[in-house]
Amino acid sequence: MLYNRLGASGLQVSQFSFGSWVTFGTQVDTDLAKEQLAVAKDHGVNFFDNAEVYAGGESERIMGQAIADLGWKRHEYVISTKLFWGINGDMVNMKNTLNRKYLMQGIDGSLERLGLDFVDLVFCHRPDPQTPVEETVWAMSDMISQGKALYWGTSEWSAEEIRAAWEIAERHHLHKPVMEQPEYNLLHRHKVEQEFSRLYQDIGLGLTTWSPLASGILSGKYVDGIPENSRAALQGYDFIREAADDEDIKAKLRRFIDVARRMEVTPAQLALAWVASNPHVSTVILGASTVQQLEENLGAVAVMDRLGAEVKTEIAEIFTA
Ligand code: NDP
Repeated sequence: MLYNRLGASGLQVSQFSFGSWVTFGTQVDTDLAKEQLAVAKDHGVNFFDNAEVYAGGESERIMGQAIADLGWKRHEYVISTKLFWGINGDMVNMKNTLNRKYLMQGIDGSLERLGLDFVDLVFCHRPDPQTPVEETVWAMSDMISQGKALYWGTSEWSAEEIRAAWEIAERHHLHKPVMEQPEYNLLHRHKVEQEFSRLYQDIGLGLTTWSPLASGILSGKYVDGIPENSRAALQGYDFIREAADDEDIKAKLRRFIDVARRMEVTPAQLALAWVASNPHVSTVILGASTVQQLEENLGAVAVMDRLGAEVKTEIAEIFTA
């Protein structure tokens, strides 16, 4: 496993990391979570991604409990949470916001559920157009000064919003945003490859990218229909079912599967190695509902060396056609 610096920061994160969206609490209980975390760590994964909103707080509880049961020492791993949507129903000030009150109470709740004194990374899970960016930046910076998180960043913010936050922090000598968490995979490329391009150099932005398989679609398992035990079959994930069922995407996937077959790797491994091969990506956050998927996906490490410019161009052409 390779370790990359998280943007311009000194923190090193494994090229592949592991996250718990959809899975922990819905498909994965504490025992399976323990198994998955142990497998990931054995392969050299050092970063584990979470969020307040995942399974309404249950995902943080499960990850915290699993890590405690495994007896991991705090210096052995990097862990994150993300704040924005809130988990207190419709309560005013506690939902869809990045105001100071929510952020300060939100981080305390996450730490309690995780059973930790601090998280390494904390993200503003979405931008909040209602709260002044300055208020959010001060709150995030204070969170770090108070020792509740070590680095802060954003998720699915625009380049303009990230730069505005960074400049406010610079002007007031506050802790600056270090990383962004965008979706990045063969079906979603614009933000990482176009929109953010100036930010890598200008502010040293690091990326922890999500849904590298577009929720499993790039594993190719949906080309002949929707398997019963899959994310696209879960209630409330219609948007994934629609993409999984899209004839244009399926046609591209059939060609992509042929490339993987020729290389004697799985489509999932090829799609993951492709994401990791972008030098601006600090870590690719993997998702998996079983130990077998996780092991297969971690096999992408061995594919990295074989992903030459020619194959990358061939793959890019399939998905831009
Ligand atoms: P992926 O796109 O890799 O999808 C993972 C899912 O695909 C698995 O849970 C599994 O679902 C299926 N899958 C994975 N590997 C295979 C395989 N080898 N063969 C067949 N199916 C496979 O990643 P996620 O969408 O889970 O995102 C990864 C992480 O990124 C999340 O856990 C979270 O930490 C983070 N994230 C952040 C977001 C943000 O807004 N900041 C948004 C979304 C995710 P199944 O078996 O159920 O079909």
